[in-house]
Amino acid sequence: LLLVIKISRGHDMASDIRKLWADVRKKWMLNPDKPGSPKYWSPELETCPRDKIKEIQSEKLEVAFRYLYECSPFYREKYKRAKLSPSDIKSVDDLHKIPITSKKEWREDLEKNPPWGTFSCIDEDIWKERGWIVWLTSGTTGKPTPIRYTQEDRKMQQWFIARQYWMSGVRPGDFLMFCVPFTTHVFAWDHYVPLQTMGIPMIAAGPPIPTEARIDMIKRLNPTVMLGTPSYMLYLGEIMKNMGLDPRDTSVRAIFVAGEPGGSILSTKRRIMDLWGAKVGDLFGCTEVGGAGIATICEEELEDLGRPSNLHFNEDGGIPEVVDPETLEPLPEGKEGQLVWTDFSSESMPIPRFNLGDFTVISSEFCACGRTSRLSVGGLRGRTEDMINIRGVTVFPSAIEQSLREIPELGDEYQIVLTEKMGLTEMTIEVEPKPEIPEEDYPSLEKKIVEKLKVDCQIRTSISFLPYGSIPKAEFKAKRIKDLRG
Ligand SMILES: [Zn+2]
Repeated sequence: LLLVIKISRGHDMASDIRKLWADVRKKWMLNPDKPGSPKYWSPELETCPRDKIKEIQSEKLEVAFRYLYECSPFYREKYKRAKLSPSDIKSVDDLHKIPITSKKEWREDLEKNPPWGTFSCIDEDIWKERGWIVWLTSGTTGKPTPIRYTQEDRKMQQWFIARQYWMSGVRPGDFLMFCVPFTTHVFAWDHYVPLQTMGIPMIAAGPPIPTEARIDMIKRLNPTVMLGTPSYMLYLGEIMKNMGLDPRDTSVRAIFVAGEPGGSILSTKRRIMDLWGAKVGDLFGCTEVGGAGIATICEEELEDLGRPSNLHFNEDGGIPEVVDPETLEPLPEGKEGQLVWTDFSSESMPIPRFNLGDFTVISSEFCACGRTSRLSVGGLRGRTEDMINIRGVTVFPSAIEQSLREIPELGDEYQIVLTEKMGLTEMTIEVEPKPEIPEEDYPSLEKKIVEKLKVDCQIRTSISFLPYGSIPKAEFKAKRIKDLRG
């Protein structure tokens, strides 16, 4: 009898905390179906004093931690090992006590417990009851990880993303064209439902639809907003020009890019703006952590402000931190480090302190839009695994891109080729001079590029010129690094 009581009490505790977590999430889901004001979707959440944001985060963190402890086998083990109990986490001030979770730990758990791992707080019966969708991660390291979300999670994700579109000035009357595919990747799916809620018309024109057909749709159907990767938006515009069409003459007024760091690279943003005569915005999310968008651009930052754009963190949906990549110790505002994100958007999987690996700087400086959430200054710069180490100098491919795209003689495509010579890494950058550049100018152009990269990125590299249009184009995520090292 005692055993029976124990089991049933255990079950009750789990369902109590599950209900509590659902209640807290619901309590702060303000303006769930439609915007609360012409400028702010959830005015109370978006313009409240910073103390209030901290209060909401603390309330969510306390319950989320207890929920994970009770319901997620992976996290219960992890926190027991760290000698933490649910009563240790009461507010945001206790956040640093929680050990950081890495992608590697997730992969190991998945390998041991296929196909889903043990980090979710939802058991198979609840999954069946709720219904779900699965996405695969597209990271550059390791096998794609399957991440499941319940239909309840989808409702919350669509609310967050609708708010983000509202923040970046997308309104009924716009018509959005997807240039990204509806596949196993989160991107298109995560944007489709919120747009439906907002009453924004859309067309799913991503691959496998050929570029030429997409151009024909732009001409005939007049979309006003485009969604794609930065490299693809450049490619699409160039193809139009080759066909004798000027992208500036189209109905496109704004382009939102994601999937690569390009939107926050000023020279890339400017190239897209010039090519299309449109404003350009950047979005940042991650399949593993809530799928609800982590940082988004506001309307004020869509302009060319002479600096890389800042993005607002989704702070009532999570907590951003920047840590030292070596020691994993939190860094103060204004210092660059790896983004660690705590996510509150999901019932299947709240995630405390997940190391995303992307580099950024956090600031609570004032933004002209009046929102009080903190900023990712200059957006996200890329991940640790993308960093290249050349003879002791580490460089992000995004920094190389910034420099290359400031050179007007070069086309938009480039590739970084890494080889090994006597144990040392050698870098060659393949670029395409524009067709109007005469070959006799190549030697001076080469010198110009080498000098610029030396000054901007402190790297020594060789340059290889390829015929214009010969570097393969990616319709989704561009592969910029060709690693031929042994
Ligand atoms: Zn703003």
